Amino acid sequence: FDMFFLAFVERLFRPTFRKDDFVLGKKLGEGAFGVVYRVSLAKKSSSNKEGDLVLKKATEYGAVEIWMNERVRRACASSCADFVYGFLENSSKKGGEYWLIWRFEGKSTLADLMQSKEFPYNVETMILGEVQDLPKGIERENRIIQTIMRQILFCLDGLHSTGIVHRDIKPQNIIFSEGSRTFKIIDLGAATDLRVGINYIPKEFLLDPRYAAPEQYIMSTQTPSAPSAPVATALSPVLWQMNLPDRFDIYSTGLIFLQMAFPSLRTDSSLIQFNRQLKRCDYDLVAWRRSLEPRASPDFRRGFELLDLDGGIGWELLTSMVRYKPRKRTSAKAALANPYFDREGLLVLSFMQ
Ligand code: ADP
Ligand code: MG
Repeated sequence: FDMFFLAFVERLFRPTFRKDDFVLGKKLGEGAFGVVYRVSLAKKSSSNKEGDLVLKKATEYGAVEIWMNERVRRACASSCADFVYGFLENSSKKGGEYWLIWRFEGKSTLADLMQSKEFPYNVETMILGEVQDLPKGIERENRIIQTIMRQILFCLDGLHSTGIVHRDIKPQNIIFSEGSRTFKIIDLGAATDLRVGINYIPKEFLLDPRYAAPEQYIMSTQTPSAPSAPVATALSPVLWQMNLPDRFDIYSTGLIFLQMAFPSLRTDSSLIQFNRQLKRCDYDLVAWRRSLEPRASPDFRRGFELLDLDGGIGWELLTSMVRYKPRKRTSAKAALANPYFDREGLLVLSFMQ
C-alpha cells in the first residue's frame, strides 16, 4: 500500500505520452547509458513552447532512473529537474529503450558556468538578477559561492531525507533552473534508494572517479546484499544510520566547493592530480594544505584567503565535508546549519547599503 498505491493513482491521472508525441531537437549529452536531447511536443495545440522539454533515451538502467524520478517528484520535487514522464519505448527494432522526459530547466550546468573566466560573477546575475556595480573582490565571490553551496546542499538534504543517495554529484549534474533561479540536481541514473532497496547493489562501475569518495561501497560489505523490497523497507533506516551512505554525496559536494574556491582545480586533469595528492596525505585536507601552502601560487593563496574569511568558517565547512571516514563527514542538514551560511544574509544586507 502507501507509496506504491499513491504512485499508481498519480500515474492514472497524469498525461501519458508516446514516442510520436515528441520532436527531437539538439543533442545535449551522450553518456554510456543514454542520449539526451532537447525536445518539444509535436501537438501544436498544446501550450508547450518550442523545445521546452528534455528527453533521455536510456538503456537498461532507465527503469531505475524513472523510478527514482517518480519518487523525487512525490517526496522532494524542488531538489531535482521537473520530471514529466517516463516509459518503455518498444517500437524500434533494436529492442526496448526507456524514454524519460523532463522540463527543460535551462541551458547551463554548474560545469558550464565554472568554465567561464567570469565565474562566480556570471552566476551572481543569474541568481540575483542585475546587480549593482559593486567592486569585485573576495568577499563578493565568497557570497556567491555560499549561495551556490547552500542551494546544492538544500537539494541534497531533500534527496537524503527521502532516502536517496545520488552517487554522481558533480558540476555536470547540477543544472541552473532559469525558472526558479536556483541550482537543481539532475541525472538520477546512478542513484540508489535505500529505504525500499531499489538499486541496492552499488553499481560502483557507474561512479565518476573524479568526484567519488574513497569508500568503494557506500554500504558496508557486511550488510546483506540485495534484500527483497519489504525486508529493505523494514531494515534500511537502521542500515542508513549504521553506514551513513549519504555521506558519499557530501564528499563529492565538498570537491565542488573546493573547485569553486580554487580556479586552478577546475579542470579535469588538475582535479585528478588533486585527488592523488589528497590520497598521499591520507585524505587529510589540513595536511594537504600544509604541504601546498608554502609554495602555493597566488591563485591558491587567494582560494585559501576566501575560505579563511570570517574566522575560517568556509575552510571549516570544507574540511567537514572532505574526510576519509563517512562517519566524520557532516550531513547535508548539518552543513546547512553551519555558520558559513549565517554570514550570507548579513553580507547581502551590507551590499545593499
Ligand atoms: P547523462 O547520463 O548523459 O549524464 P544527464 O541526465 O546528466 O545524462 O543529462 C545530460 C545533459 O543534458 C546534462 O549535463 C545537461 O546539460 C542536459 N540536461 C539534462 N536534463 C536537463 C534538464 N532538465 N534541463 C536542461 N538540461 C538538461
Ligand atoms: Mg550526467
